[in-house]
Amino acid sequence: MTSEPQIDDLEDPPFVTRQSLHGPAWFAVLLPSLPPVLLWLVTPAMTSAFQTVPGALRSLGLLAGLCAYVTFATNLLLGARLPWIERLFRSLDRMYRFHRRLGIAVGCLLTFHVVLMLGSVVASDPGGLVSVLGEPGVAVGVGALAGFATIVALSLFGRMRHETFQRMHRLIGVVFVAAAVHVLLVPGVAAQSSPLHAYLVGASVVGAGAWLYRSLLWQQLVRRHAYRVARITPVHDDINELALTPVDDPLRFEPGQFVFIAIDDDAVTREAHPFSITSGPQDTELRLVIKALGDFTSGLAYVSPGAPVVIEGPYGGFWHRGHDLRRQVWIAGGIGVTPFLAMARSLDLSDREIDFYYCTQTAESAVFLDELTDLADRTPGLRLVTVPFDTEGLLTADRVAATSGDLLRRQVFLCGPAPMLDALVPQLSAAGVGRDRLHYEEFRLRG
Ligand SMILES: Cc1cc2nc3c(=O)[nH]c(=O)nc-3n(C[C@H](O)[C@H](O)[C@H](O)COP(=O)(O)OP(=O)(O)OC[C@H]3O[C@@H](n4cnc5c(N)ncnc54)[C@H](O)[C@@H]3O)c2cc1C
Repeated sequence: MTSEPQIDDLEDPPFVTRQSLHGPAWFAVLLPSLPPVLLWLVTPAMTSAFQTVPGALRSLGLLAGLCAYVTFATNLLLGARLPWIERLFRSLDRMYRFHRRLGIAVGCLLTFHVVLMLGSVVASDPGGLVSVLGEPGVAVGVGALAGFATIVALSLFGRMRHETFQRMHRLIGVVFVAAAVHVLLVPGVAAQSSPLHAYLVGASVVGAGAWLYRSLLWQQLVRRHAYRVARITPVHDDINELALTPVDDPLRFEPGQFVFIAIDDDAVTREAHPFSITSGPQDTELRLVIKALGDFTSGLAYVSPGAPVVIEGPYGGFWHRGHDLRRQVWIAGGIGVTPFLAMARSLDLSDREIDFYYCTQTAESAVFLDELTDLADRTPGLRLVTVPFDTEGLLTADRVAATSGDLLRRQVFLCGPAPMLDALVPQLSAAGVGRDRLHYEEFRLRG
């Protein structure tokens, strides 16, 4: 790997997002933890809860356990990849990043729960620890905690193939079911308040339901579209265009969005992978442009025409339409051109003014350059600026400001490799482009 930043290379670390979490999303996700706390505060047992040290430790331990359990259920709901929740976050990678943080928060709450509960046992009856741990409801809880800690540690720190990560991650539902048995079996606060008990039963149903929906019953329950491979066209060294024809109702999407595709062909592995749509919503065929990176994307070139494809989506909030500012800057790096292809192919430029910077390693490696140049020649509001790294170096915000002028009054869209975003985002922010007008897509979904 040469020392200069590589534009076309999708090798890790890939594309990066740095957007803060969307206000309503915070609220919506943390809200479910409030009722159990309020219900717990009004239970009669509360009055004597803090009169003794063991009592206070136990009460705080129960509270931490309650919040951990309800947040765990909420996190399974995020993991279910439901479109209406994704819309709340305005993008799937933002939702997955929140999912990851919530997983860490559940881990911390669970640790407090265990330390405080054990502390209260030791404080009231040091010799009673073994018998408490031997109680069936508590033992199930300890097992659930061990399972949770293992899966979260592997998810956060394990270096594993994406497919292995997904399979391992699906086991988290088994841990949740064990936690549900613990919560509903152990005579805790739930026994003292039927509304709280009902709420915990509700959280158990939501959590287990979300897990079953995504992990075990997705083939039956997740809405997907049937397509067939029409053709695969090589467009550059290790890049192919995949054209798909609909078998049943075609997908409706916004240009800039992406889908998960799974192909039933021996040339590729069967799990679903995300790719940005490159065709316009008006086209019958759905097209994707894919760079060979690992086993799935490298096998694509050998997939046979006619192979069945199932498509889930669309997902993503990376689209140019609907933004108030009609003046926009688009910046694509390497294969990050894909969402912009769909946007450029479906442009109704009556009210738009777009400067499209297309950054590639060399001029030759710029896929679809002829089509984009032709589009720009025929479309008054679209200006294409090619930035081949080998002859012009890296694109900077200063150059964008000099060429496009007035960045303060522009929406800026970026999709490209991590080194490009790591360099450009702070520059653009320093040049006055506010967070609400800086949009990027990440080609990785592990948050
Ligand atoms: C929103 C989005 C849009 C994308 N659009 C495009 C595109 O238009 N063109 C293109 O060439 N690539 C795109 N990608 C990247 C593409 O999904 C990966 O390159 C592909 O999944 C790699 O799979 P592999 O088996 O070939 O490689 P692997 O070696 O298995 O994976 C390489 C990396 O790809 C990611 N990845 C692998 N499998 C998955 C999966 N099932 N789900 C999510 N991420 C996965 C992981 O980060 C992994 O580290 C996009 C990714 C995302 C998240």
